[in-house]
Amino acid sequence: MAADNNRFQAIISHCKEYGFIFPSSEIYDGLSAVYDYGQWGAELKKNVKDYWWKSMTQMQENIVGIDAAIFMHPTTWKASGHVDNFSDPMIDNKDSKKRYRVDHLLEGYADELDAKGDKAGAEQVLKAMDALLAASDYAGLKKLIEDKNIPCSVSGTCNWTDVRQFNLMFSTQLGSVSEEAGEIYLRPETAQGIFVNFLNVQKTGRMKIPFGIAQIGKAFRNEIVARQFIFRMREFEQMEMQFFIRPGTQKEWYEYWKAERLKWHLSLGIPEARYRFHDHAKLAHYADAACDIEYDFPIGFKEVEGIHSRTDFDLRNHQEYSRKKLQYHDPELNKSYVPYVIETSIGVDRTVMMLLCEAYAEEDLSTEEKKDSRVVLKLPPAMAPVKLAVLPLLKKDGLPEIGKEIMNACKPYFKCFYEEKDAIGKRYRRMDAIGTPFCVTIDHQSKEDGTVTIRYRDSMQQERISIADIRKTIEKQVSFSAGV
Ligand code: ATP
Repeated sequence: MAADNNRFQAIISHCKEYGFIFPSSEIYDGLSAVYDYGQWGAELKKNVKDYWWKSMTQMQENIVGIDAAIFMHPTTWKASGHVDNFSDPMIDNKDSKKRYRVDHLLEGYADELDAKGDKAGAEQVLKAMDALLAASDYAGLKKLIEDKNIPCSVSGTCNWTDVRQFNLMFSTQLGSVSEEAGEIYLRPETAQGIFVNFLNVQKTGRMKIPFGIAQIGKAFRNEIVARQFIFRMREFEQMEMQFFIRPGTQKEWYEYWKAERLKWHLSLGIPEARYRFHDHAKLAHYADAACDIEYDFPIGFKEVEGIHSRTDFDLRNHQEYSRKKLQYHDPELNKSYVPYVIETSIGVDRTVMMLLCEAYAEEDLSTEEKKDSRVVLKLPPAMAPVKLAVLPLLKKDGLPEIGKEIMNACKPYFKCFYEEKDAIGKRYRRMDAIGTPFCVTIDHQSKEDGTVTIRYRDSMQQERISIADIRKTIEKQVSFSAGV
């Protein structure tokens, strides 16, 4: 899909209006590239994390999960290469003083060419950029920007500085000023918490290679070009898994995890055509092969997950810097070695954004008699913030009491929402807008025969079911094992 900015803006507004995502500290005009999750966004995000956690640590018998601290010993980041290498090439416009990531500037230009129908031109620019990035040829990158006459979006001029590297880590002080204060970093990825605990987990869990360690947690990056809603934030969450393997087997495990992770994405009910793999031309300092899984957002194909063959780079460096052996004794080979690692690293927030973009639909329901429409989030039921809405038709005649009984019977099993205010049509629309897959309405007939009307979000069809069957019927369809 070509970039569809109107659709993207509509999704952002919808997220705010319906309690999914708010700009951080909005009463103070927000904080750039930082967002808060509201009542429904927090539920959706938690469902994403639970599903990933379950598929990694419960469905895979040789993967365990940990929860390491955000603060780590500062030497960690020296050993991992982040102090020296975690930087992006940037360029500043001398007139507006605005700073750009070089790859974003060139990609934006290529997108424009593409939108004008010049596909070949767009591809040529991206190819040239990839080659220059791979060669760390900063003078060449600047020349490419100048040759193509790419202007700054603020000043409109092509008056550029040289391309420079800019480190993305946030630093802070540990300890008070009077005590011995030391500079430490907010982690820019969760992976290092796994590497430094490799031996702790391997020994205490009696893990045998191949095995994995998974983790979900916050990461922080001082992104220069922070835009595109929750796609690129300065504080975000990652779900990472490091899979420890025998040296020499990395190619087959890399392919294995590429296939596994694509399967996971497809299990979200998103069609394969909405994804593509993007192989990295320029490899990160730690990798011998790397690719991204990209999703077709309304702003174009963009990375959701990275799969990296990290060799023994991290463990070997931690071994060197800490002077502690980080080796595994392989009983089958009767040999000790530093394991190789395949990493899968997916952003929680980008997954939330992907699900929202895939689910968001504006539907015209007009008939000859009247105009009508709805906005509906067709989220997979297991991901939906609310699974069941319980809606008594009237606030009297014992209908609310039946509603409360249904709530009490169902709420220990899945998230339910009770509402008796407003006309039923309005209540349905509100539930559609937050993606609630099932609504039940209680009417006078419910008192007589113990049935309610169940309404399905996507088809809007309604049928009567027995109150006694509600929990069973819904529980089956909203559990993670039911497709998602
Ligand atoms: P990009 O090229 O978009 O900056 P990256 O290649 O630096 O991403 P990784 O270091 O591979 O990203 O991080 C793994 C995952 O973490 C990404 O696929 C993405 O989903 C998520 N992620 C990385 N940076 C951010 C960010 N600033 N905001 C939200 N999610 C992020």
